[in-house]
Amino acid sequence: MQFIDQARITVRGGRGGDGIVAFRREKYVPAGGPSGGDGGNGGSVVLEADANLQTLLDFKYKRLFPAVDGRRGGPNRCTGASGIDLVIRVPCGTEVRHLTTGILLGDLTTAGEQLVVAFGGRGGLGNAHYLSNRNRAPEKCTEGRDGEEWPLQLELKLLAEVGIIGLPNAGKSTLISVLSAARPKIADYPFTTLVPNLGVVRRPTGDGTVFADIPGLIAGAAQGAGLGHDFLRHIERTRLLIHLVDGGSEDPVSDLRVVEKELEAYGHGLVDRPRILVLNKQELLNDEAARAEQVERLQRESGRPVHLISAAMGQGLDQLLDLVWRELGI
Ligand code: GDP
Ligand code: MG
Repeated sequence: MQFIDQARITVRGGRGGDGIVAFRREKYVPAGGPSGGDGGNGGSVVLEADANLQTLLDFKYKRLFPAVDGRRGGPNRCTGASGIDLVIRVPCGTEVRHLTTGILLGDLTTAGEQLVVAFGGRGGLGNAHYLSNRNRAPEKCTEGRDGEEWPLQLELKLLAEVGIIGLPNAGKSTLISVLSAARPKIADYPFTTLVPNLGVVRRPTGDGTVFADIPGLIAGAAQGAGLGHDFLRHIERTRLLIHLVDGGSEDPVSDLRVVEKELEAYGHGLVDRPRILVLNKQELLNDEAARAEQVERLQRESGRPVHLISAAMGQGLDQLLDLVWRELGI
């Protein structure tokens, strides 16, 4: 099972600066030689793997990455300044392909690893370059060359750090949709009708964390009922679970028990995974006393604090995210 984050970008090396035609002009030197300098080379575009990034979130908004052009040559054989390389940071594990041919250009696996994806153009030659015995005053110079330009496809295999579990209808999909800043593609998933829903949620530190909504969790899932087993296997790799309970349910405590039992039955340490218990659809519990009782019963049953939200009304979400970042140590 693979979740894939994808982004398409265009990288462009800087153009080389033009060479120029110039002649030395000095007092008492009647015919100074050619002195036009060369243009500087254009900067290249370089990808660099960065361990602090987990997603391709930033590439959803910015698509074109041009490096700086080289500068024109100057008089007195001055070479123009070279363009500065543009270094683009990508998460470790990013595969880089040419967009249209699909050819793999590189795989940035370890932090600090670099890949030049577009070379800058060479600077042109100034006329000082064309001085020869035959031509003492060349008027010739050349233009800088364009940098390379390539459309690229970036691909990253994602790991969901946060899993949202709960019975059908608890509001998992709604929650992920109101929290997420981007929806990565889900590839190679064997089921087409019921796929985990992924969302990338922006952290306070800038990059994203992947949340996965795990559908299909029903009584008997650990024994393979529904698609539960498969999804449980996926949440094995998460670091934190959000257990969402439907506040509009007839019996939230019994809903809670069903899910807890499945986690226990599945084993693999899932039941010990850090977990945040959330009661959704709080606005449906408009009777203050009924709400307090519901919360009290859930707390007693689970031994955990209950956090109230309304995914649909956008209530309690900031507090929930604060808790998530705290649990993840972000
Ligand atoms: P999932 O099966 O857990 O993914 O649940 P969904 O996100 O599909 O939500 C199930 C139903 O509950 C949908 O009709 C949602 O509109 C509704 N729902 C989700 N969150 C809330 C909420 O905070 N309040 C209310 N009243 N309804 C909600
Ligand atoms: Mg759903």
